Amino acid sequence: MTKRMPRVRKQVNPELLAMMQERLQAHRRGQFIVLGSISLIETFAGALRFPVSNNVPTGPTVGYMTDLEKKADLQKLIVLTPWEGVPALTEKTEEFCPACLHGCHVCNESGRKICEGVGCGGSGYTLGPAEVCPECVAKIGKFDPQCNKCQGHGAIYPKVECVMCKGSGQIVCSFCKGQTRYSTGLKGGSTDFLVGRCTECHGFQRKSITKEQKIDPHVNALLPDPRNGPVAAVGPIFSFVVDLSEEQREQAGTPVRMFDVRQDAAGDQLFMLIDSTSTPAWPYLVGGLITEHNADANVMMISSR
Ligand SMILES: [Zn+2]
Ligand SMILES: [Zn+2]
Ligand SMILES: [Zn+2]
Ligand SMILES: [Zn+2]
Repeated sequence: MTKRMPRVRKQVNPELLAMMQERLQAHRRGQFIVLGSISLIETFAGALRFPVSNNVPTGPTVGYMTDLEKKADLQKLIVLTPWEGVPALTEKTEEFCPACLHGCHVCNESGRKICEGVGCGGSGYTLGPAEVCPECVAKIGKFDPQCNKCQGHGAIYPKVECVMCKGSGQIVCSFCKGQTRYSTGLKGGSTDFLVGRCTECHGFQRKSITKEQKIDPHVNALLPDPRNGPVAAVGPIFSFVVDLSEEQREQAGTPVRMFDVRQDAAGDQLFMLIDSTSTPAWPYLVGGLITEHNADANVMMISSR
Protein backbone atom coordinates (compact mmCIF):
# COMPACT_ATOMS: atom_id res chain seq x y z
CA MET A 1 0.00 0.00 0.00
CA THR A 2 1.44 3.38 -0.97
CA LYS A 3 1.14 5.99 1.72
CA ARG A 4 1.93 9.23 0.03
CA MET A 5 0.12 12.38 0.97
CA PRO A 6 -2.68 13.07 -1.42
CA ARG A 7 -3.80 16.41 -2.63
CA VAL A 8 -6.55 17.79 -0.42
CA ARG A 9 -8.99 20.48 -1.21
CA LYS A 10 -8.15 23.40 0.97
CA GLN A 11 -11.68 24.39 1.71
CA VAL A 12 -14.95 22.68 2.33
CA ASN A 13 -16.39 22.83 -1.12
CA PRO A 14 -20.10 22.41 -1.87
CA GLU A 15 -19.52 18.72 -2.68
CA LEU A 16 -18.07 17.95 0.76
CA LEU A 17 -20.66 20.09 2.47
CA ALA A 18 -23.39 18.13 0.66
CA MET A 19 -21.90 14.82 1.83
CA MET A 20 -21.83 16.05 5.42
CA GLN A 21 -25.40 17.26 5.21
CA GLU A 22 -26.61 14.05 3.60
CA ARG A 23 -25.23 12.08 6.55
CA LEU A 24 -26.58 14.50 9.12
CA GLN A 25 -30.06 14.30 7.64
CA ALA A 26 -30.04 10.50 7.40
CA HIS A 27 -28.97 10.42 11.05
CA ARG A 28 -31.84 12.74 12.06
CA ARG A 29 -34.37 10.68 10.13
CA GLY A 30 -33.08 7.42 11.57
CA GLN A 31 -32.03 6.13 8.14
CA PHE A 32 -29.14 4.00 9.31
CA ILE A 33 -28.23 0.70 10.89
CA VAL A 34 -25.66 0.59 13.66
CA LEU A 35 -22.44 -1.22 12.77
CA GLY A 36 -20.39 -0.75 15.94
CA SER A 37 -17.66 1.49 17.31
CA ILE A 38 -14.39 2.31 15.66
CA SER A 39 -11.48 0.87 17.62
CA LEU A 40 -8.66 1.78 15.25
CA ILE A 41 -8.03 4.23 12.44
CA GLU A 42 -4.88 4.01 10.35
CA THR A 43 -3.79 7.15 8.57
CA PHE A 44 -0.56 8.16 6.84
CA ALA A 45 0.66 9.23 10.31
CA GLY A 46 0.07 5.84 11.91
CA ALA A 47 -2.63 4.40 14.10
CA LEU A 48 -5.18 6.09 16.32
CA ARG A 49 -6.53 3.66 18.88
CA PHE A 50 -9.87 3.77 20.65
CA PRO A 51 -9.78 0.94 23.20
CA VAL A 52 -12.64 -0.23 25.36
CA SER A 53 -12.37 1.42 28.75
CA ASN A 54 -14.39 0.04 31.68
CA ASN A 55 -16.52 -1.90 29.20
CA VAL A 56 -17.34 1.27 27.28
CA PRO A 57 -15.94 1.75 23.75
CA THR A 58 -14.08 5.05 23.46
CA GLY A 59 -14.32 5.23 19.66
CA PRO A 60 -17.08 6.88 17.65
CA THR A 61 -20.13 4.72 16.97
CA VAL A 62 -20.73 4.27 13.25
CA GLY A 63 -23.52 2.91 11.11
CA TYR A 64 -24.39 2.44 7.46
CA MET A 65 -26.74 4.87 5.81
CA THR A 66 -29.88 3.09 4.59
CA ASP A 67 -32.20 3.85 1.71
CA LEU A 68 -36.00 3.90 1.84
CA GLU A 69 -36.09 0.08 1.60
CA LYS A 70 -33.81 -0.03 4.64
CA LYS A 71 -30.98 -1.37 2.50
CA ALA A 72 -27.54 -0.41 3.83
CA ASP A 73 -25.20 1.58 1.59
CA LEU A 74 -21.83 -0.04 2.36
CA GLN A 75 -19.98 3.01 1.05
CA LYS A 76 -21.74 5.52 3.27
CA LEU A 77 -20.85 5.49 6.92
CA ILE A 78 -22.52 7.79 9.41
CA VAL A 79 -20.91 8.69 12.68
CA LEU A 80 -23.62 8.47 15.31
CA THR A 81 -21.83 9.91 18.33
CA PRO A 82 -20.12 13.25 18.89
CA TRP A 83 -16.38 13.65 18.67
CA GLU A 84 -14.86 13.06 22.10
CA GLY A 85 -11.23 13.24 21.07
CA VAL A 86 -8.68 10.45 21.12
CA PRO A 87 -8.32 8.68 24.45
CA ALA A 88 -5.05 8.29 26.31
CA LEU A 89 -3.72 4.75 26.17
CA THR A 90 -2.65 2.76 29.18
CA GLU A 91 0.29 0.41 28.85
CA LYS A 92 1.56 -2.12 31.35
CA THR A 93 5.17 -1.80 32.44
CA GLU A 94 7.40 -4.50 33.90
CA GLU A 95 7.35 -2.67 37.24
CA PHE A 96 5.33 -3.85 40.20
CA CYS A 97 2.00 -2.13 40.79
CA PRO A 98 2.67 0.37 43.59
CA ALA A 99 -0.86 0.05 44.99
CA CYS A 100 -0.63 -3.58 46.10
CA LEU A 101 2.91 -4.06 47.39
CA HIS A 102 3.58 -6.62 50.07
CA GLY A 103 6.79 -7.48 51.95
CA CYS A 104 8.60 -10.39 50.28
CA HIS A 105 8.48 -13.52 52.42
CA VAL A 106 10.87 -15.40 50.16
CA CYS A 107 13.84 -13.18 51.02
CA ASN A 108 12.53 -11.87 54.33
CA GLU A 109 12.36 -8.42 52.75
CA SER A 110 16.12 -8.31 52.24
CA GLY A 111 15.95 -8.46 48.44
CA ARG A 112 18.60 -11.15 48.51
CA LYS A 113 18.68 -14.79 49.36
CA ILE A 114 21.19 -17.56 49.85
CA CYS A 115 22.68 -18.70 46.57
CA GLU A 116 20.88 -21.59 44.95
CA GLY A 117 23.89 -22.64 42.89
CA VAL A 118 24.50 -26.39 43.09
CA GLY A 119 27.21 -27.07 45.68
CA CYS A 120 27.38 -23.40 46.74
CA GLY A 121 24.67 -23.22 49.37
CA GLY A 122 25.74 -19.69 50.27
CA SER A 123 29.44 -20.44 50.66
CA GLY A 124 30.35 -18.53 47.50
CA TYR A 125 32.28 -21.38 45.97
CA THR A 126 31.78 -24.80 44.50
CA LEU A 127 34.22 -27.70 44.33
CA GLY A 128 36.06 -28.11 41.04
CA PRO A 129 37.24 -31.39 39.48
CA ALA A 130 39.59 -33.53 41.56
CA GLU A 131 43.33 -32.91 41.42
CA VAL A 132 46.12 -35.04 42.85
CA CYS A 133 47.22 -33.80 46.24
CA PRO A 134 50.26 -31.49 45.76
CA GLU A 135 51.53 -32.35 49.28
CA CYS A 136 51.60 -36.14 49.06
CA VAL A 137 50.79 -37.83 45.74
CA ALA A 138 52.52 -35.16 43.67
CA LYS A 139 55.64 -35.19 45.85
CA ILE A 140 56.15 -38.82 46.88
CA GLY A 141 54.15 -40.66 44.24
CA LYS A 142 51.58 -42.14 46.63
CA PHE A 143 49.13 -40.87 49.10
CA ASP A 144 50.14 -40.26 52.67
CA PRO A 145 47.47 -41.27 55.21
CA GLN A 146 48.85 -38.60 57.54
CA CYS A 147 48.67 -35.79 54.93
CA ASN A 148 47.10 -32.63 56.29
CA LYS A 149 46.33 -31.24 52.88
CA CYS A 150 44.15 -34.12 51.63
CA GLN A 151 43.37 -35.86 54.92
CA GLY A 152 44.78 -39.00 53.33
CA HIS A 153 42.50 -39.04 50.27
CA GLY A 154 45.32 -38.42 47.89
CA ALA A 155 43.20 -36.02 45.95
CA ILE A 156 41.88 -32.53 46.57
CA TYR A 157 38.92 -30.64 45.19
CA PRO A 158 39.91 -27.03 44.55
CA LYS A 159 37.41 -24.34 45.47
CA VAL A 160 36.07 -22.53 42.43
CA GLU A 161 34.19 -19.25 42.63
CA CYS A 162 30.43 -19.93 42.26
CA VAL A 163 29.26 -18.74 38.84
CA MET A 164 25.80 -17.99 40.15
CA CYS A 165 26.67 -15.65 43.02
CA LYS A 166 30.20 -14.71 41.88
CA GLY A 167 31.54 -15.65 45.31
CA SER A 168 29.14 -13.53 47.36
CA GLY A 169 27.07 -16.48 48.56
CA GLN A 170 23.92 -14.49 47.85
CA ILE A 171 21.73 -13.87 44.82
CA VAL A 172 19.04 -11.33 44.05
CA CYS A 173 15.65 -12.60 45.16
CA SER A 174 13.92 -13.65 41.97
CA PHE A 175 10.51 -13.37 43.57
CA CYS A 176 10.69 -9.63 44.38
CA LYS A 177 13.52 -8.95 41.89
CA GLY A 178 15.60 -7.66 44.78
CA GLN A 179 13.07 -4.97 45.63
CA THR A 180 12.11 -6.43 49.04
CA ARG A 181 8.43 -6.05 48.14
CA TYR A 182 6.27 -7.45 45.36
CA SER A 183 2.73 -6.81 44.10
CA THR A 184 0.14 -9.34 45.15
CA GLY A 185 -2.53 -8.05 42.74
CA LEU A 186 -4.94 -8.01 45.66
CA LYS A 187 -6.44 -5.00 47.40
CA GLY A 188 -3.93 -3.05 49.48
CA GLY A 189 -1.23 -5.66 48.90
CA SER A 190 -3.17 -8.26 50.83
CA THR A 191 -2.40 -11.95 50.37
CA ASP A 192 -5.99 -12.91 51.18
CA PHE A 193 -7.90 -13.64 47.98
CA LEU A 194 -11.17 -12.83 49.71
CA VAL A 195 -10.37 -9.10 49.80
CA GLY A 196 -10.60 -8.96 45.99
CA ARG A 197 -8.39 -7.62 43.25
CA CYS A 198 -6.29 -4.48 43.45
CA THR A 199 -8.31 -1.63 41.92
CA GLU A 200 -5.19 -0.13 40.30
CA CYS A 201 -3.77 -3.13 38.43
CA HIS A 202 -6.91 -5.31 38.44
CA GLY A 203 -4.84 -8.27 39.56
CA PHE A 204 -2.15 -7.94 36.86
CA GLN A 205 0.48 -6.93 39.47
CA ARG A 206 2.05 -4.50 37.02
CA LYS A 207 2.22 -0.74 37.00
CA SER A 208 0.46 0.95 34.09
CA ILE A 209 1.51 4.14 32.41
CA THR A 210 -0.68 6.53 30.47
CA LYS A 211 0.29 7.63 26.98
CA GLU A 212 -1.44 10.54 25.32
CA GLN A 213 -2.44 10.15 21.68
CA LYS A 214 -2.24 13.29 19.61
CA ILE A 215 -4.63 13.91 16.76
CA ASP A 216 -2.57 16.73 15.23
CA PRO A 217 -0.16 14.55 13.21
CA HIS A 218 -3.18 12.85 11.62
CA VAL A 219 -4.81 16.10 10.57
CA ASN A 220 -4.07 16.56 6.90
CA ALA A 221 -5.75 19.92 6.57
CA LEU A 222 -7.87 22.44 8.38
CA LEU A 223 -10.63 23.28 5.98
CA PRO A 224 -12.18 26.68 6.29
CA ASP A 225 -15.88 26.09 6.72
CA PRO A 226 -17.63 28.60 4.48
CA ARG A 227 -20.25 29.08 7.19
CA ASN A 228 -18.27 29.74 10.33
CA GLY A 229 -15.04 27.98 11.17
CA PRO A 230 -12.51 25.22 10.68
CA VAL A 231 -13.15 21.56 9.99
CA ALA A 232 -10.23 19.22 10.72
CA ALA A 233 -9.67 16.63 8.01
CA VAL A 234 -8.23 13.51 9.65
CA GLY A 235 -6.74 11.21 7.07
CA PRO A 236 -6.41 9.97 4.48
CA ILE A 237 -7.61 6.85 6.27
CA PHE A 238 -6.14 3.64 4.80
CA SER A 239 -7.87 1.19 7.08
CA PHE A 240 -10.08 1.06 10.13
CA VAL A 241 -11.41 -1.51 12.55
CA VAL A 242 -14.92 -1.64 13.97
CA ASP A 243 -15.87 -3.44 17.17
CA LEU A 244 -19.27 -4.72 16.11
CA SER A 245 -22.54 -4.14 17.95
CA GLU A 246 -24.19 -7.17 19.57
CA GLU A 247 -26.58 -7.56 16.65
CA GLN A 248 -23.82 -7.27 14.05
CA ARG A 249 -21.67 -9.74 15.95
CA GLU A 250 -24.37 -12.35 15.70
CA GLN A 251 -24.85 -11.70 12.00
CA ALA A 252 -21.16 -11.61 11.14
CA GLY A 253 -20.12 -14.36 13.56
CA THR A 254 -17.09 -12.27 14.58
CA PRO A 255 -16.54 -9.49 17.14
CA VAL A 256 -14.63 -7.18 14.79
CA ARG A 257 -14.51 -6.26 11.14
CA MET A 258 -11.57 -4.68 9.39
CA PHE A 259 -11.83 -2.43 6.37
CA ASP A 260 -9.37 -1.19 3.79
CA VAL A 261 -9.93 2.04 1.91
CA ARG A 262 -8.77 3.10 -1.53
CA GLN A 263 -9.40 6.11 -3.68
CA ASP A 264 -12.93 6.23 -4.99
CA ALA A 265 -13.89 6.86 -8.63
CA ALA A 266 -13.69 10.61 -8.05
CA GLY A 267 -10.11 10.23 -6.78
CA ASP A 268 -11.10 10.99 -3.20
CA GLN A 269 -9.77 9.17 -0.14
CA LEU A 270 -11.54 8.52 3.12
CA PHE A 271 -11.35 11.35 5.62
CA MET A 272 -12.91 11.92 8.95
CA LEU A 273 -14.00 15.51 8.96
CA ILE A 274 -14.32 16.80 12.49
CA ASP A 275 -16.65 19.76 12.47
CA SER A 276 -15.65 21.69 15.56
CA THR A 277 -17.99 24.52 14.74
CA SER A 278 -21.00 22.52 15.88
CA THR A 279 -21.65 21.82 19.56
CA PRO A 280 -20.72 19.13 20.32
CA ALA A 281 -18.06 18.73 17.64
CA TRP A 282 -19.23 16.16 15.10
CA PRO A 283 -17.26 13.73 12.94
CA TYR A 284 -18.18 12.76 9.38
CA LEU A 285 -16.67 9.96 7.34
CA VAL A 286 -16.57 10.90 3.67
CA GLY A 287 -14.88 9.74 0.48
CA GLY A 288 -12.91 6.66 -0.48
CA LEU A 289 -13.82 3.17 -1.59
CA ILE A 290 -14.35 0.94 1.43
CA THR A 291 -13.68 -2.78 1.11
CA GLU A 292 -13.72 -5.50 3.72
CA HIS A 293 -10.17 -6.40 4.70
CA ASN A 294 -9.52 -9.86 3.31
CA ALA A 295 -7.09 -11.62 5.61
CA ASP A 296 -7.09 -14.74 3.41
CA ALA A 297 -5.92 -12.73 0.40
CA ASN A 298 -2.92 -11.50 2.39
CA VAL A 299 -2.01 -14.97 3.50
CA MET A 300 -2.21 -16.20 -0.09
CA MET A 301 -0.02 -13.37 -1.31
CA ILE A 302 2.62 -14.08 1.33
CA SER A 303 2.62 -17.85 0.82
CA SER A 304 2.85 -17.58 -2.97
CA ARG A 305 6.11 -15.63 -2.82
ZN1 LIG B 1 47.76 -35.26 50.46
ZN1 LIG C 1 26.75 -19.24 44.89
ZN1 LIG D 1 12.24 -11.19 47.80
ZN1 LIG E 1 -2.06 -3.52 42.11
